Amino acid sequence: MAPQQDADIPRGSVDAAQPRARRLPGKARPRDDVLREYMEGLRRRRDAIDARWSNTNSFVLYDILAPDESAELYRWRVQLDCGCIKEAMTRGDNTLPHEVPWTDHVYYAQLPVGQVVCHHDDHPESPYRKITDWDTRSEHTLPADPAEPPDWVMSASEKTGNDPADFWAALRHNEPGTTAMWRVTLECGHVTEVSADVDWNPTDGPRRTSAQRLREMRAEMEEDEDEPSPLREHMRRMLDEGWPMPQTETTCFACTSVRRFVAYQRVGWLVPRQTKPRPSKPSRESLTRRLSAAEAEAQRLRDQLAQHDADQEP
Ligand SMILES: [Zn+2]
Ligand SMILES: [Zn+2]
Repeated sequence: MAPQQDADIPRGSVDAAQPRARRLPGKARPRDDVLREYMEGLRRRRDAIDARWSNTNSFVLYDILAPDESAELYRWRVQLDCGCIKEAMTRGDNTLPHEVPWTDHVYYAQLPVGQVVCHHDDHPESPYRKITDWDTRSEHTLPADPAEPPDWVMSASEKTGNDPADFWAALRHNEPGTTAMWRVTLECGHVTEVSADVDWNPTDGPRRTSAQRLREMRAEMEEDEDEPSPLREHMRRMLDEGWPMPQTETTCFACTSVRRFVAYQRVGWLVPRQTKPRPSKPSRESLTRRLSAAEAEAQRLRDQLAQHDADQEP
C-alpha cells in the first residue's frame, strides 16, 4: 500500500470507503492467550491504582478506572489499508471496529473514528499541520545544559565545519529553565505537544517578530540555496505570518502512522456467552406416558358427557 500523501489530511471516516465484512487470511489468536493478556493488563492497571492511592478503598476505584470488562468484549480481525491484519476488541458485538475511536500510541489521545495506528519503519516524513486547539498546559523545569558540547552538537559541527564550542555556546542554557508544554489538537484531528514561553497564554495570540528581523531572516533564507523541503516551506509560511511564537503549526507524527480499516471479520466473545440450556427432546417413554394420560382424560370426559346426556333424557 502506498504511504499517505502529505497533502492528504486524514479527517476520520467521512470520505473513506466503508470497510466490508470478509473472511481474512490467517487465523485468530487462541482465545485463552488474548484473555490472559487482557487480565494481565488489567492487573497492572489495578496495581498502579494501589500504588498511587494506597490509603483509599481501591475496589471503588477499580470499578471507575480499571473495570473488568472482559465479559463484554467482542473480538474482531481487521485488515488495514497498509495490508496488515490485526486483532481488535469492541464493547459488545453490535459496534464495528471502524465505528469506535482508537487511541494513538504516543499521547494516548483518541484518533478520529475510522483510523488506527499501524507503524511501519519506512513511514514518510512527519507533515506540518496547523494547531487548531490549545488543550492543556503543564510546566517542565529543565536543568542547565552541561558545559561540554553533547555528541549531537559534535556530529552536527563535523558536518557543517562549525566550531562545536561556539555552536554550543549559542545554544546552551546556562541556567535551569522552566518551559510550558501544551497538549494541542491539529487540523488533522491528531494530538501532539509543543512548548511555549511560561507566561504565554492562547488568548494573547502568538507573538510576532519585528519587521526588521523578518527582513533579515527572509534575506538569510534566500541566501542559502537549500532544496525545497517541508521544513523550508514551513519556515516560509512562518515568515509570511510574521514568525509567530509559539508557532501556529507543528509536525504531526500520528499522520505518518495512522491507517484506515478496509475489512473486518467476526471472531467471537472474549469470554464465551452463557447459552440458555435448550429444552431437551422428550423421550419415547415420556411421550407414551403423556399420551396414555391424555387418552385416559379423554375417556373420562367421554364418560362424563354420556352420563350427562343420559340424565337429560325424559
Ligand atoms: Zn500496517
Ligand atoms: Zn495528524
